[in-house]
Amino acid sequence: MVFSKLSNSYFDEFPLRKRKKHSTSSDYYFLSHAHSDHTTGIKSILSSPDSTIVCSKETAAAIKVLHRIPKEKCLVINKNQSLDFDDFVIHAIDANHCLGSLMFVTETPENRKEVYTGDFRLGQPILDEIELIRDADHLWLDYTYGKNPKYTFPSRKDLISEILSLMLADGNYPQKEIWIAAYQIGKEKLLKTISDALKVKIFAPDKKVKIYKEIGGDWDIFTDDPESGICVESRRRVENLSGLDQQTEARLINSLRISPTGWAIELISKRLDVHYFPYSDHCSYDEVHEFIGLVNAQEITKI
Ligand SMILES: [Zn+2]
Repeated sequence: MVFSKLSNSYFDEFPLRKRKKHSTSSDYYFLSHAHSDHTTGIKSILSSPDSTIVCSKETAAAIKVLHRIPKEKCLVINKNQSLDFDDFVIHAIDANHCLGSLMFVTETPENRKEVYTGDFRLGQPILDEIELIRDADHLWLDYTYGKNPKYTFPSRKDLISEILSLMLADGNYPQKEIWIAAYQIGKEKLLKTISDALKVKIFAPDKKVKIYKEIGGDWDIFTDDPESGICVESRRRVENLSGLDQQTEARLINSLRISPTGWAIELISKRLDVHYFPYSDHCSYDEVHEFIGLVNAQEITKI
């Protein structure tokens, strides 16, 4: 998405094959997280032996499963870690978006500072590092919900409580199957809380199961067992029942369907049989603007 002239490096952009917009080529490609709108053209890295992706270990696991990028192509940077690339130093901060998402801060020896947020939600991991981010020369900003105050939603913590209460209300789980809308990556705080609270692994599409098995540890919370009782599928399938075989469609119609999305705020034609919650891994309107104030950047580019 971004080519930084400062560091001569690419952030969430893989222009080796299709999007060769810049004449200077970098050996390092900084990847904030593995959502598909940030990984366009990622496979082109395979045809460039000297190119390396710099990302978290969780993102490296995700792109291995989703794009068959071998782990040897990745240089892992952990949250709160700094790496020196000769003409600049890069600091990684937990972006508080999906699991393994990072925000990058670059600093040159001349003290020029740029901040690339990737996608993020303002919260403690970022506030703890605010001194590192403050007074940036250039802020590349995730502005997903920054345009309109109507996108002001509650904390994820409060919404997780609301969603769990709904799930455990009389007549719901385990009597009724529960389907939750989520992408292949993301909404982990919600899904892990549900898995832990109900002591059950969540039925998910094959690739999602593989990604979180690859990440491992506490995050191996998904299963290919369709009898789980708690299931995750795409928004398209959970909300609109699109692309389903007859049997699965019948299962969904008889289930409790939950869609956690920031866009819930503006879905005018909400389905009455789907429960929407404005749960988001992006900043709400007020949080984006609080962050802009805290960073106090000379220049802002909305990404
Ligand atoms: Zn994202």
